[in-house]
Amino acid sequence: MASQPLRTARAGEFRAGDAGRDVRLAGWVDARRDHGGVIFVDLRDATGIVQVVLNPADEPAPAGVLRGLRNEFCVAVSGLVRERTPETVNPDLPTGGVEVAATRLDVLSPAEALPFQLDERAEVDEVRRLQYRYLDLRRPRMAANLAARSRAIRAMRGALDDAGFLEVETPTLIASTPEGARDLLVPSRLRPGHFYALPQSPQLFKQLLMIGGVERYYQVARCYRDEDFRADRQIEFTQLDLEGAFWGQDDVLATLEDIVAAVVSELRGVELTRPFLRLTYGEAMARYGTDKPDIRFGMEITELTDVFADTGFRAFGEAVEEGGVVRGINAGNQGLSRAGLDALVDRARELGAKGLVWLAVEDGGSLRSPVAKFLGDDELAGLAGTLQANPGDLLLVAADAEPTVSAVLGQLRLDLGRPKGHDELAFLFVVDFPVFDVGEDATLAPAHHPFTAPADVAEMRDHPETAVSRAYDMVLNGSELGSGSERIHDPEVQAKVFEILGIGAEDAQRRFGWFLEALRYGTPPHAGFAIGIDRMIAIIQGEPNIREVIPFPKTQTGGDPLTGSPSRVDPAQLSELGIELRPEVRAAWEEGD
Ligand code: ASP
Repeated sequence: MASQPLRTARAGEFRAGDAGRDVRLAGWVDARRDHGGVIFVDLRDATGIVQVVLNPADEPAPAGVLRGLRNEFCVAVSGLVRERTPETVNPDLPTGGVEVAATRLDVLSPAEALPFQLDERAEVDEVRRLQYRYLDLRRPRMAANLAARSRAIRAMRGALDDAGFLEVETPTLIASTPEGARDLLVPSRLRPGHFYALPQSPQLFKQLLMIGGVERYYQVARCYRDEDFRADRQIEFTQLDLEGAFWGQDDVLATLEDIVAAVVSELRGVELTRPFLRLTYGEAMARYGTDKPDIRFGMEITELTDVFADTGFRAFGEAVEEGGVVRGINAGNQGLSRAGLDALVDRARELGAKGLVWLAVEDGGSLRSPVAKFLGDDELAGLAGTLQANPGDLLLVAADAEPTVSAVLGQLRLDLGRPKGHDELAFLFVVDFPVFDVGEDATLAPAHHPFTAPADVAEMRDHPETAVSRAYDMVLNGSELGSGSERIHDPEVQAKVFEILGIGAEDAQRRFGWFLEALRYGTPPHAGFAIGIDRMIAIIQGEPNIREVIPFPKTQTGGDPLTGSPSRVDPAQLSELGIELRPEVRAAWEEGD
């Protein structure tokens, strides 16, 4: 005899027209209310919630079982779907027009007292949530985020499949590559003293795929970077990685627009306006003080150096003489008290400014400021005109070396600016990044990664500090969603980049000889990108951090409170790997640290 199915219907599916159906459901007790003997259970499964009525007179289960029913018990219910009486209809629930009158209830699996309440209003410490992630995932918000993630990735795959891309997997035990972050290493047992690295990204493998004739590649790729933790970084994270041969920047950006539009249409049901805004790196830095501008509000940084070219005001004059700049923002009507304005000045100092000048625009248009008396009338007029000042506006001006002014005004703009709508998604591309970042000690590091093509090879040879690259970023609401570039496909140029980075020819040969060699066998020009999937979904879902859209994330300190990773291992495992702990590490180990 065929066994009974555990369920014949799902909780969230019922509508008024289902009245009269005999069904069997299975799920969890979301809530339980005892109304003078009759028990009402909100039964939840992955599709939603339906009300189940357990009337002891119908003997759906022994009285003790009904009495003992608690939240999060896993149960199966058989019964009849019926319309609710008009006064008991629950308009907040999609299934609120009906209920299931139970004829039988089986407890499939009882639940112990929960470590925290699952209802959405309960504020629970995050470490505790992660320790019991399997319970946390039962909350509607988390369930919705996981579903959104799955739908987003499906939409991405759909867009790429439509465009003729091949999904190709690349290894996760690889040789260490110079991509900027610290590698996570995995010791080899078969070759003690040798290590695999976990990929910071599939960068070199996707380039090898281009050399291998795979002209369109993508992968939902897990990546690993051993960086210090920040709110929106994880030691392991997921990228949508892609690459194309005979491709350039415009091809990549157009494909990215298609992918992102597909995701936003799936998750938000809105069609994005395309093409996205493109700013050069220089424009982004000058107008927003950052390479990841939030363009949901104006308050752009405005050049004022010319207005104060001959100023007698020392703070501005000195900055200009030393080659710095004077720039300002019109912060609009902030309604700040004197204490609030003082706090702004403190904030600017904290951000590295020597000072910050504020000017309040009075009703008649005159500027009130502690420093107004040091500024000439034409300077005040030039300032008000350039910043398009209106009565009530607050003007903020900083004078210093350009990077300092950008950093300070860029951050104040973010502190003070408010996006108009909560839901707005403002995508843009930043292009024309420099090839190298110049460090404090004048050392050069790749601004993107060392496989990025310079816009002009001769320019890079002669002036590496200022050379422009073919790298580009995608930005959403002030967060970097990903980066990419046209790649170097000439082994000589690649060797030159290593040389500029201070990686000697021998060293480069030893570490990346295999890659330099691969470039010598007819490498097509190619370009690509990687989107940070976690961050993209978090922002679209309106979540404050990426952990809310990662099923099993690590805490800020890199640990997993559920499984206890990272954890100590059996000394025998270490010895098999040829690893011995340093005495002080061993001592800390033994003390249980
Ligand atoms: N591999 C790069 C990264 O992870 C992205 C790319 O250049 O395609 O940032």
